[in-house]
Amino acid sequence: MNDFQICPNCGRRTPEENLRCIFCGDRLPVGRGTLGSFRFGRGRAIFIIVALLVVFFFLRLYMR
Ligand SMILES: [Zn+2]
Repeated sequence: MNDFQICPNCGRRTPEENLRCIFCGDRLPVGRGTLGSFRFGRGRAIFIIVALLVVFFFLRLYMR
């Protein structure tokens, strides 16, 4: 099972097992190994932030 991470340089999804972005060739800040669990936590945090933004957006729409 391959997961993806977002390249900080070009913003595209690249397989997390890669050390370099497959699109722009830039080095990825998060490699494999012990940082893998950290990446999972970051992904969950981003998901939560996006969910909160969506809720906030809908609240503003309904408040108006
Ligand atoms: Zn890239």
